[in-house]
Amino acid sequence: MKGGEIVNCIFCKIAAGEIPCTKVFEDDQILAFRDLNPEAPEHVLIIPKKHIDSLAYATPEDHKLLGHIQLKIAEIAKNLNLPEDGYRVVTNVGEGGGQSVFHLHYHLLGGRPMKWPPG
Ligand code: 5GP
Ligand code: ZN
Repeated sequence: MKGGEIVNCIFCKIAAGEIPCTKVFEDDQILAFRDLNPEAPEHVLIIPKKHIDSLAYATPEDHKLLGHIQLKIAEIAKNLNLPEDGYRVVTNVGEGGGQSVFHLHYHLLGGRPMKWPPG
């Protein structure tokens, strides 16, 4: 799977601007946009522009990028006024982990109480 069908990767296409999205944040390394099928009042996906299949395929080379993503997620949550009531950050890894798009992404979910454990 690693380094697989990057050409046909939907999130690579979104990062390249070839498929439209509702952008929430962008810098040179990452893009945040609203999920097409939101599972909560606020549901934002945060992706690295670099294609990585999933967290399982991240390498030490991605150390700074992953730290950057997490800190930006917290900033995005703050800008969406989520910290007051709490929010959730999730990355699904592999089919068994519920991943359906094989380009690393983090779900930022908020605006409603979150249940634990997720199914
Ligand atoms: P996963 O199941 O891989 O953790 O999450 C993939 C997420 O991507 C799903 O929540 C799905 O709704 C979202 N998604 C799939 N295709 C698109 C798309 O073309 N645009 C946007 N904005 N979200 C998408
Ligand atoms: Zn990709």
